Amino acid sequence: MLYNINKIGKDERMKQDVLRIAKKAFDEKLMAGTSGNISVFDRDSGLMAITPSSYDYGIMEEKDIVVTDLDGNVEEGWLRPSSEWKMHAEIYRNVEHVNAVVHTHSPYATSFAVLQKEIPVILIEMLPFLNGSLEVSPYASQGSSQVGLNAVPILKRKNACLMANHGVVAVGKDVDQAYLSSVYAEDVAKVYHMALTVGTPVEINGED
Ligand SMILES: [Zn+2]
Repeated sequence: MLYNINKIGKDERMKQDVLRIAKKAFDEKLMAGTSGNISVFDRDSGLMAITPSSYDYGIMEEKDIVVTDLDGNVEEGWLRPSSEWKMHAEIYRNVEHVNAVVHTHSPYATSFAVLQKEIPVILIEMLPFLNGSLEVSPYASQGSSQVGLNAVPILKRKNACLMANHGVVAVGKDVDQAYLSSVYAEDVAKVYHMALTVGTPVEINGED
């Protein structure tokens, strides 16, 4: 039970978690402009707290975070939920151990998503934080349920994946774990990119 307190306190905690990580991801330049979106899910109530659609992270407050069910019905909030809420909903519906989703268009990782190029295991951190290589899920139009459904088979095994010609989706049992995976996805992509400019990166395997 991730948010095992009374309902009002629970929704507040969820919104605080989303806001805290949204600000952090924005400050760390993982999200440009109003791109990217973050949510947490409470399996008891069936509700998720998610960042609002097209809203400035710099002025975002707790009251701006939207609470919806997995069908997009708004329970709390005055703004529209992120236009990519269906992706979050499909991940929660289909990957049972996941309670948080951090989606960014962070530049290095997204460059490999655009190339539809998997990043092999080149750093040992990829094993604990990403569960191995960074795979690419097939393209689907932004905002559709299919974007999430295409990532589900990978996210059942991995903590993050690249979404073809779109960005990164990282997941975790809580929002801090999902955020950490999104940070490592970008870091690994940056190192891989730099290594590719000067030579041929060497893969490692899990047993080393
Ligand atoms: Zn996106």
